[in-house]
Amino acid sequence: MKYPLRYRAGTPMVFTVLVALFLYISVLQGTAAPSDETEFLERRMTMVKNQIMERGVRDPSVLRSMMSVPRHKFVPARYIPAAYDDNPLPIGHGQTISQPYIVAYMTEILTLNKKSKVLEVGTGSGYQAAVLSPIVGHVYTIEIIPELATSAALRLKELGYHNVTVATGDGYYGWSQHAPYDAIIVTAAGGHIPPPLLGQLKNNGSMVIPVGGAFLIQNLVLLNKDKYGSVTTRNLMPVRFVPLTGRHD
Ligand code: SAM
Repeated sequence: MKYPLRYRAGTPMVFTVLVALFLYISVLQGTAAPSDETEFLERRMTMVKNQIMERGVRDPSVLRSMMSVPRHKFVPARYIPAAYDDNPLPIGHGQTISQPYIVAYMTEILTLNKKSKVLEVGTGSGYQAAVLSPIVGHVYTIEIIPELATSAALRLKELGYHNVTVATGDGYYGWSQHAPYDAIIVTAAGGHIPPPLLGQLKNNGSMVIPVGGAFLIQNLVLLNKDKYGSVTTRNLMPVRFVPLTGRHD
């Protein structure tokens, strides 16, 4: 999905540049990046600074992950030159990889940690799962289009994201085998919050999900369950995602 650039008044430019530089150096040190990857790393630094930090994402673990995941390896070859643009991109089968800012924002809003067990509905290219991977304990991700699930699983394995497990299936019904989850992230828009997902969310857990029709206004919704299981929801921002498909429709 695409979200317009919104600069935060008062973001100190020197702070932004220093943090971006720190992230760049720390990622460079953490990877034996071959020289042909250096240009992509520089483009990721620009992406993180201009598209993500400027819009207010601050969680260091999220910024570090956005700096490290090679988005150009999650898009079809003809879109590699556009891999770090401020846009969603086609990934085949009528589906898209989400805009980088939205990936970062949805990741940050879930306040995850190394113990979190996360369910993602809508694997797509596997990019969102890869961004989650270094931040959490384990990612279970489910994709309804078998070809996308297969290629994402292979890509994630080859890139070394070993704490991600991919399945083909209708994510409306969640993945009960591994439930309950600390957090659930849904990357396709449904007309309502799927009750099976609510049931698979732990007490004190959070879910982020776009809600709305395919060609109607959609809202990104944050759902929190308290320690007694009571649910509250909050509209975060208007968004445009591909639809949550499946037989429940
Ligand atoms: N998270 C993905 C990424 O990082 O590339 C982008 C996801 S794309 C915006 C939405 C994905 O949700 C599509 O791949 C689509 O096939 C999938 N999808 C739609 N309905 C689904 C369902 N009921 N269960 C599982 N996946 C579904």
